Amino acid sequence: KANRMFHPEDTVVEVRGRKIGGKELTIIAGPCSVESEEQIIAIAQEVKAKGATLLRGGAFKPRTSPYAFQGLKYDGLELLKKAREATGLPIVTEIMAPQDIEVFERDVDVIQVGARNMQNFTLLSELGRTRKPILLKRGLSATIEEWLMSAEYIMAEGNDQVILCERGIRTFETYTRNTLDLSAIPAIKKLSHLPVIVDPSHATGKWWMVEPLAKGAVAVGADGLIVEVHNDPQNALCDGQQSIKPCVFGELMQDIAPIATAV
Ligand code: PEP
Ligand code: MN
Repeated sequence: KANRMFHPEDTVVEVRGRKIGGKELTIIAGPCSVESEEQIIAIAQEVKAKGATLLRGGAFKPRTSPYAFQGLKYDGLELLKKAREATGLPIVTEIMAPQDIEVFERDVDVIQVGARNMQNFTLLSELGRTRKPILLKRGLSATIEEWLMSAEYIMAEGNDQVILCERGIRTFETYTRNTLDLSAIPAIKKLSHLPVIVDPSHATGKWWMVEPLAKGAVAVGADGLIVEVHNDPQNALCDGQQSIKPCVFGELMQDIAPIATAV
């Protein structure tokens, strides 16, 4: 079902009147994690003013260490809803367990499946029985074929609202957090009709690399970006080193506009 051979036209996913895929560039921006009401609303207002079309923010966080901040969980979802009310931006947030699907279906606009859960087939199948758009991140070491098969798990259950997200893969290189596979974008475009966006923040782990790789992503045909933006990166509870400040996000939006119209 994800295969372009049987579905030649590009899929366009609609979220509260915004189109993901097709001609429009989708910009999902916001902090790694929801930390407080003031934090998420302030960031939401700033990214909206500078051109974001959706708001991101983790409530359930898949952290490497069980002792690291795990997110505000259900309270985080409530704060995201407040930020949506304050700005009108649809909300994108990660789900980790099938038992939360009911709440996410009710409260969230785009349900994110993180890299670590890309092959959680039970979760994928259950999300396939919802009718919510699913943002499916590429697994840490997943091939393009494995990634598309995971999209297939969702679509096989009847949910064709899938958006793919390239977020870097593990290679021998350690300078960057991951290695951004820009070649995945034209590959996905050839193999599938699904929209595909790029996450330069998790791909690099470095805030100053977000701008050049975001530009590259748009130049190679990505349908959009998901970018971590924080108003106080140094004190962020998660991923501060890869978060850009709202002013840098604003400059990035201005810089990518001419690239988007050229491709
Ligand atoms: C995230 O987007 O917050 C995240 C945890 O990303 P990934 O699953 O790509 O590591
Ligand atoms: Mn993060």
